[in-house]
Amino acid sequence: MRSGCRDADTILHFRCALELAYGFIGADMTMFDVKMTAQNKTAGNCTTRTARQTTLKDSIRIEGIGVHSGNPSSIVLHPAKSGSGITFLRKSDGDAMDQLIPAHVDNVGDTRLCTVLGNPEELYVATVEHLLAALRGMSVDNVLVEIDAAEVPVMDGSSRPFVDAIREVGTTRQSAPRRYIRVLREVNASHGQAHAVLRPHDGTRFDVEIDFESPAIGRQRFIADLTPEVFAKDISRARTFGFLAEAKQLRAMGLAQGSSFDNSVVIDDDRVLNEGGLRYEDEFVRHKLLDAIGDLALAGSQLLGEYKSVCGGHKLNSMILEALFADPRNWCYEDAASAEDQPMFSAPVGAPVGLEAASQPVAAAKA
Ligand SMILES: [Zn+2]
Repeated sequence: MRSGCRDADTILHFRCALELAYGFIGADMTMFDVKMTAQNKTAGNCTTRTARQTTLKDSIRIEGIGVHSGNPSSIVLHPAKSGSGITFLRKSDGDAMDQLIPAHVDNVGDTRLCTVLGNPEELYVATVEHLLAALRGMSVDNVLVEIDAAEVPVMDGSSRPFVDAIREVGTTRQSAPRRYIRVLREVNASHGQAHAVLRPHDGTRFDVEIDFESPAIGRQRFIADLTPEVFAKDISRARTFGFLAEAKQLRAMGLAQGSSFDNSVVIDDDRVLNEGGLRYEDEFVRHKLLDAIGDLALAGSQLLGEYKSVCGGHKLNSMILEALFADPRNWCYEDAASAEDQPMFSAPVGAPVGLEAASQPVAAAKA
């Protein structure tokens, strides 16, 4: 069974729509053999950061529907121990055993319509990127995501409901220092017209550019130095988007059964059809950046580097991590110094963000 989510990454008709490279399913996917070849590598000698790892203060349940199936889906985010990272506990809906699927690029099973973790022919979890973006964007290191369905709930098509849930339950610092992945050498990836580069940078920067023929989108670029404040204010509310004709096509194929104006920005030719319009003037590129944050969370730790993508999508995002991990000289672990209790970012994770007014929708969104 194919993965079922829909993302505007995938629309064929446009210059940037390069995600429907059918056939990309990790042939040698090692779902239960997560590559940890350098996990025990000694951290580099440039331990300048002082953050500790974080997890949630308590469990929290989030309910919604899957964008593909239209069926109910619920997740429970649980606190998790230091060093465990983000792991999905996929509850079996049949006779099969429940399965733990670490959120790691080695476990990516499909990237055509969304990012899928696990084996698409067996137990898998689809549309993980918006949840992962929220966890990474809000700087939450360790979480166990219990899920009873094949798709993470699409909610409003953005990361905002997950951010709200994280804030509601709160986060707590753990004793272990945060473990970063520092990019040491530039790596590149491309397919079709899409290309990406991940290069050394003393921070976490995303630089995303898209170029669609539709005048409703056109050419857009957004650059963000990632902090929880920036993520919550400038990125988290950006919704996935798609074209009306594409939605009809996907529905005819049995996909996108759960998609609607409530969880997608819908475009017809040069018009946005949602009554409320856009949440940001350049909501499209911000959503692509959101996707990139979620997909690159599959590095397994917070990245120190600059990621630039042009006309990218889930496949390209996955490819750049594969390129990074292809050579151990490309990266190293870097543990934050633990002597000081000072977060990397200027506000504690989960703290109220005081700039919300600036991130209100251009016009009130329907969702
Ligand atoms: Zn998305």
